[in-house]
This record gives sequence, structure tokens and C-alpha cells, in this order.
Amino acid sequence: MSEAPPHVAAGLNFQRQFDAQPGEPIQVGDGLTRVTAPNASPYTFTGTNSFLIGTKELFVLDPGPDDGRHLEALTSAIGGRPLRAIILTHTHKDHSRLARKLSRRTGGTPIWFGGRHKTSRRLRRFEVNPLIASCDWSLVPDRTLADGDVIDAGGVSLEVIATPGHCANHLCFGVQGTPLLFSGDHVMGWNSTLVAVPDGSMADYFASLEKIMNAGYSTYLPAHGGPISDGPAYARALLFHRQQRNRQILLALSDGEKPVGDLVSRLYPDANASIRRAAAMTVAAHLEYLADLGKVRLSFGPVGWVQNARIADQV
Ligand SMILES: [Zn+2]
Repeated sequence: MSEAPPHVAAGLNFQRQFDAQPGEPIQVGDGLTRVTAPNASPYTFTGTNSFLIGTKELFVLDPGPDDGRHLEALTSAIGGRPLRAIILTHTHKDHSRLARKLSRRTGGTPIWFGGRHKTSRRLRRFEVNPLIASCDWSLVPDRTLADGDVIDAGGVSLEVIATPGHCANHLCFGVQGTPLLFSGDHVMGWNSTLVAVPDGSMADYFASLEKIMNAGYSTYLPAHGGPISDGPAYARALLFHRQQRNRQILLALSDGEKPVGDLVSRLYPDANASIRRAAAMTVAAHLEYLADLGKVRLSFGPVGWVQNARIADQV
């Protein structure tokens, strides 16, 4: 799972016109080619965008889900050129799952990313990560990429920018000397990203939005959907939207303690069952953020989920 379902972030100007052409290599810049995987869904929009980077020798960014058709499409787009590394924005399976097979298919290409999957904070007693099945826990990097690393990717220079929030090991990649930034699931034009605790962290996400809007890149190429032409302004709008959600939650709690379900109903009045699940995860992430600031007090249910919230007592 990567993305919040539709209308979770209503009010932002989302871009939902995108002809992905799954399986077709589409040039998106000098030495940059997009091949979209055939895994369109309410959570992945038109499917995961894999990118080929370089010309004579290549890097593949986010090989995508474990799908035989996509493996063939990537192999054909690579066209026998040497593959130096497979790099990942993060280890949710819709981005990483094909990495092992693509590595084997291309003679043991190393896999580089920001460290093994881990939750953004320690699990509470009895707590289960709601995204546990979506994470590629066993994948170990051949090289761990860190913030500030620069990768020479076949004549294209990539700057590694650590952007935790959606999940702990999330990276964006700036194409140095160009306005282009691979923004992964951190910033996407079709919807706001899903931030679910403890896999992700709202505080980290806010900091990473600030970081990316000041990184010096203007056009974002996300892992789902089309390019974002004014990335920093859009990232700022996302940040504003989430801060508004914080204010709405505090307002909703102003007349007394409430179960999380009541907050979800108030903030997402039109949500159907599937959207309610993602909405509840999002509200829990906001509540933990507000609790860390000392603004709300939380009580937890038997499996570690936030159950009730109230405004913290003033001291
Ligand atoms: Zn993801």
C-alpha cells in the first residue's frame, strides 16, 4: 500500500489526467525513461512508475511489483545494456518486489536503497503495523544509500535526499544539473501520500516536505502518476493541507474526549469502508503527532491502536 485513497485530501489541486501506457518505454528527460507497471489500483493510481536512468549503462529506479509482464517490459527497455544497480525509493512491495528477479535476470545486479525496512518508531506492546503485509521486510541492500550521497548513474548524476515520513527508509533522487527530482511516494500529483503509524511518521513527513521544497528541484517525477511541474509550491500546499487537518482534529476534540472512529466520521463524512480504513490510519498518525507536541492525550486499545483522544490538560 502506498497512497491514501481518493478524496482523503480533498481540496488540493490533484492531477488525475495521466496516460501511463503500461509496459511502453516513455522518454521523460535526457537519459531518463519511464516504464509503468500494470498494477493500477485505487492505492497505486495508474501503476508504479519504474525509471531507467542513463544511456550506455543504466540504473533502474523502483522495478515495481512482482509481475512477469513488467519484468519482460523492463528487460526489453534495458535492451541488453549493462545494468549497474537497481535503486529503490523505499521498500513497499509495489516498488521493490521485482528487484530480486530483475537482479537475477541481469546477472546479479546489486540493489541499493536506504536500509532494510523498519517502522518509523518502536512498536508498542501488542501493536501490529497495519501495513505489515505491504512491506518488503527481508530485502537487504547491497549498498545502503544515505542522505547527501551522489551516484554517478551512467552519465546522469543523482543526489540522494532522505525523506522519511511515508516510511522510514524513503529516499528521493535529484537529477543534478536539471530541475528533475524523483519523488517516489513522498510527493505525488494524483493524491497525498499515505502516512500510517508506526510504518510512517507525520512529524518526519512534515520535515521531509520542508526539505524537498528547499532542495532546488522544480519538476517532480513521482512513482505513481504524471510529473508535477511546480513541485515546491505543490509540496507547500500538501503541508498546509495536513496542518489544516491538525487544526480540524483539535477543533473536533474541543468539546470532549472522542473515539478515533468519531473523528474519522467527522473529518471524512463520505468515506466508504475501504477509505475509512486508510482515513483511520491517517487520523492516528495526526493524533500521535499532536500527542508528541503535548496537545492531545491518547488512550490505546488492546492491539496498540489509538482508541480515544482528548485535548491534553493545560499545566
Ligand atoms: Zn509506498
